[in-house]
Amino acid sequence: MKIKTLSEIWTEVDGCRRCQLCETRTTIVFGVGNPDAEVMFIGEAPGKQEDLGAEPFIGAAGKYLNSLLGIAGLKREEIYIANILKCRPPQNRNPLPEEIEACTTFLRDQVRAVNPDILVTLGNFATRFILKTDRGITGLRGQVHLTGRFSVVPIFHPAAAIYDPSKRPIMEQDFMLLGRLLAKRQVEKAQRLTEDGVQPAEAPSRDIDGECGQIRIGCQ
Ligand code: URA
Repeated sequence: MKIKTLSEIWTEVDGCRRCQLCETRTTIVFGVGNPDAEVMFIGEAPGKQEDLGAEPFIGAAGKYLNSLLGIAGLKREEIYIANILKCRPPQNRNPLPEEIEACTTFLRDQVRAVNPDILVTLGNFATRFILKTDRGITGLRGQVHLTGRFSVVPIFHPAAAIYDPSKRPIMEQDFMLLGRLLAKRQVEKAQRLTEDGVQPAEAPSRDIDGECGQIRIGCQ
């Protein structure tokens, strides 16, 4: 399979009329960040600020997200962020199944293009799409899951913790978990380099369609 570049994917998304959201959007919110990121964050859909500014997570939820990244030892410019939907649903209603179906082909291509090691899914819609499950975020957060070659860290959507501040300590725990996963990967990478002096010969698949599983990394 030919891996498209982010700019090739943008060319396909630009002007998209695959679903009804094209009638009400101001801009298409494609995605932003490091095109070689180790960690890719996936949100739900643009809100009002994102619809106006054409960038994911620049409103209140984004400011809160930025404040959490440091807990995992990450800077915003190191990560890549995109959403399940590229256009704002009216009044920020939930994405409809047909909108998810129409739009996520672009997200799949973005995941292949960025080829991160870790996917952080924010909230129910991103988590259900990536882990192919009907289970809710409450039962899935706090653990690292495996899908294909990706480690997946499901975390509550930042907007949920803005509305319900009792979720904030849990958000912080989950960003600590992400930090531990990153640290573990760094150690493993250094060990592989000292043992072999080389990287694995065969490039692993970039698809998100592999077997799902779970690993535990010192979760509380
Ligand atoms: N919420 C999301 O899920 N994505 C954004 O880009 C902004 C708010």
